[in-house]
Amino acid sequence: MSAPLSPDFRNGEVSFWYRSLGVPRPGEPLKGDVQADVAVVGAGYTGLWTAYYLKKADPSLRIVVLEKEFAGFGASGRNGGWLTGALAGSADRYAKTHGPEAARRFQRSMFEAIDEVVAVAAEEGIDADIVKGGLLTVARGPAQAARLREELAGQRQWGWDEDDVRLLSRDEMDGRLQVAGALSATWSPHCARIQPAKLVRGLVEAVRRLGVEVAEGTPVTEIAPGRAVTPYGTVTAAHVLRCTEGFTATIPGHHRDWLPMNSSMIVTEPLPADVWASIGWDGRELLGDMAHYYMYAQRTADDRIAFGGRGRPYLYGSRVDDRGHTHGWTVDALWELLTSFFPAVAASRVAHAWSGVLGVPRDWCSTVHVDPATGLGWAGGYTGHGVTTANLAGRTLRDLVLRRDTDLSRLPWVDRRVRSWEPEPLRWLGVHSMYRLYRIADARESRGGTRTSALAKIADMITGH
Ligand SMILES: Cc1cc2nc3c(=O)[nH]c(=O)nc-3n(C[C@H](O)[C@H](O)[C@H](O)COP(=O)(O)OP(=O)(O)OC[C@H]3O[C@@H](n4cnc5c(N)ncnc54)[C@H](O)[C@@H]3O)c2cc1C
Repeated sequence: MSAPLSPDFRNGEVSFWYRSLGVPRPGEPLKGDVQADVAVVGAGYTGLWTAYYLKKADPSLRIVVLEKEFAGFGASGRNGGWLTGALAGSADRYAKTHGPEAARRFQRSMFEAIDEVVAVAAEEGIDADIVKGGLLTVARGPAQAARLREELAGQRQWGWDEDDVRLLSRDEMDGRLQVAGALSATWSPHCARIQPAKLVRGLVEAVRRLGVEVAEGTPVTEIAPGRAVTPYGTVTAAHVLRCTEGFTATIPGHHRDWLPMNSSMIVTEPLPADVWASIGWDGRELLGDMAHYYMYAQRTADDRIAFGGRGRPYLYGSRVDDRGHTHGWTVDALWELLTSFFPAVAASRVAHAWSGVLGVPRDWCSTVHVDPATGLGWAGGYTGHGVTTANLAGRTLRDLVLRRDTDLSRLPWVDRRVRSWEPEPLRWLGVHSMYRLYRIADARESRGGTRTSALAKIADMITGH
């Protein structure tokens, strides 16, 4: 099915979220060598939250953020806008190393981080279209419904009680949102809709107001203990923090740390009132499903549907895209899926398509780390759950840099060591076979039956998902 495109359809241009703001031109680059206390590489949510909390904790610190394009060029300016309480990684895996109580604490910290982002945005006057309408997860088909029940049981084990997530009755589900083919749904209050670019651009203004220096158009070519090297000068600092998530594979020495996974999105034209009357979605919940090749969506502030999923999941050799250009078949596939969820949307058209990269560690669990001996640190590998996690990472990096022993510095993702991804072509083959198997598994499950397809389990085994 070919997606109908608006006459002013745009592809890439970083993302739809910059259409109302204008794609920023990079600000001033670094001007020569600089001596600082902390150098932060990357001006997405992770780098900016880290700079924000460090400067708030100790205003005397000289902090320099180095960004190769403009603040918000990466996933932070392109994502689906789920400020979500989901852990970036598996609670079972964190519990294995640090015990179940630590995994539960981690989960609670994620819930709190949502409210922290909402509160700081209000305090700093950042209007990011935030609505805390929660997360609706729908099951389309019996196998997805069985997985949803299993997921709920798992969540209970990790401290999500009835107030944190619950199965909806049929009436409650339909009253919130009409998704074609939905058999059941859970709802959790722990999720807020945001306009991602507004948040990241608001944050960069906030850190600049505090006195943090942000050099844009400044690629870091080498990170070493005590220094971050750029073509315009070197920042010498006791701490150098790598906050480059999906782009980390492009940093010398880190090619196989985190796999740059692509995610793609489309957005419709603003939908008319009669379409909204048939769909519902008055609560502005974030929407996800239980497919292996899963989707994520939001109702935007200007009444469109922004709908995402996997396009071309991975480019050979861990290449990253540049400005979000998206292949035609991905746009078509997302449109087909979107209109299968909401048939009434078929009369609309696609206004914009874009893609971005996120970081996936070999064990699909995120990490935050500062080495006191070298002063080098990093956070990331959020596997697609970075919007809230980056805030927690920023506060945790603050505590680690300042050598504070706190609840955050003892969370189970601190100082985790993860093995590297395999060299090519194994990496490419592994990821592509995983997604191929997921597609086939979804197709088989859609024919009926309550069991998860064995192919999906094989896919998980291949990549350690
Ligand atoms: C399409 C898409 C949808 C997503 N949806 C969601 C969602 O709804 N909810 C959720 O929780 N997560 C989502 N994610 C993931 C989430 O957006 C990311 O995990 C999060 O934004 C990562 O923030 P970051 O600051 O660590 O990285 P980024 O925002 O990617 O920032 C890294 C920055 O580093 C810069 N950089 C890279 N290399 C260098 C260098 N050598 N020198 C200087 N600067 C450099 C980049 O230009 C970039 O600005 C999504 C991701 C994508 C791509």
